[in-house]
Amino acid sequence: MRIDVLTLFPGMFEGPMTESMLWKGRDRGLLDLYVHDIRDYALDKHHKVDDTPYGGGGGMIMRADVVVRAVETLAQPGTPVILMSPQGRLLSHTVAKELAGQDRVILLCGHYEGIDDRVRQLVVTDEISIGDYVLTGGELAAMVVIDATIRHIPGVLGAEGAADTDSHADGVLEGPHYTRPPVFRGLTVPDVLQVGDHSRIAAWRRREGLRRTWQHRPDLLFRAQLTDEEKYWLAEFADADSAAKPQYP
Ligand code: SAM
Repeated sequence: MRIDVLTLFPGMFEGPMTESMLWKGRDRGLLDLYVHDIRDYALDKHHKVDDTPYGGGGGMIMRADVVVRAVETLAQPGTPVILMSPQGRLLSHTVAKELAGQDRVILLCGHYEGIDDRVRQLVVTDEISIGDYVLTGGELAAMVVIDATIRHIPGVLGAEGAADTDSHADGVLEGPHYTRPPVFRGLTVPDVLQVGDHSRIAAWRRREGLRRTWQHRPDLLFRAQLTDEEKYWLAEFADADSAAKPQYP
């Protein structure tokens, strides 16, 4: 997969994009990442990339002529051009997986008060938000999108398919993990994980994942595909919860 990032702050990508899975993905030839400085596409002698907003108000707006030139220089017909925006569709497991299926995407990072809307109208094909809050710029959002996406490219993660067993992959959360030592500060690793019965381990993990979901993100359960046995487990969690609550006369 090839990802081109357009930003006013290319230096922000240096550390995160050369460590861990991102580096492995690049090193294994599974990810081609190019970070471009939008300023290089400003043709005036001061390389001016922003200007004051029409209608007044605070902040600066990134200029449409510069940004559109940058996008049109890089994009080929059909290349998705994704604007990082708090107004976009929310990033999710499904969106990340969908992006990982593309051969190439361009991620466009806004800054300051944002980008002249004509960029969106002329060259942007999609807008992605990483959450309902506002960041100073799209750079951190682009890095989150890249990280969440490349985990779905076969071969990037060590254990093949691990991304498909993580939280949100099938709409619910993953259960707890343990490693050595077997006892730490009086807390023991559950017996079932220590006896090597893989079908019991799989059932335990599923049940504990559902318990986590019930406790932390019950909203996810409305959409989850559950078997009758799994629905029964949820009823058991609910019963245990109400038994643990103080009873008032
Ligand atoms: N004035 C804009 C608004 O209210 O919608 C916010 C501009 S924000 C300060 C500057 C840039 O940060 C945006 O153009 C966008 O690229 C990026 N950004 C901010 N919040 C984001 C979010 N939640 N997800 C993705 N990108 C975001």
